[in-house]
Amino acid sequence: MDEELLALREQLVAEATCPLCLDVFEQPVLTACGHSFCGQCLAGVLGEPPRPAACPQCRAPLELAPPVSVLPAVPVPNPWSRCV
Ligand SMILES: [Zn+2]
Ligand SMILES: [Zn+2]
Repeated sequence: MDEELLALREQLVAEATCPLCLDVFEQPVLTACGHSFCGQCLAGVLGEPPRPAACPQCRAPLELAPPVSVLPAVPVPNPWSRCV
């Protein structure tokens, strides 16, 4: 039973561990392919200045999933604006 708990704990740690530095995520970033890396580790993969690279996990072209807060706000059309 202890072994089971240990395995579960290892699994949890693995899910919160960056595959690049094998440490717990620091400022984790999500890629478009659904993998997570530390911001620092991903910056290292992309280089400086950032260039196209492949996901270290699945080799998919690296694209950062845009954080929702950065998406431009869609202006709500004002039905009355044309009457003014
Ligand atoms: Zn890392
Ligand atoms: Zn990936």
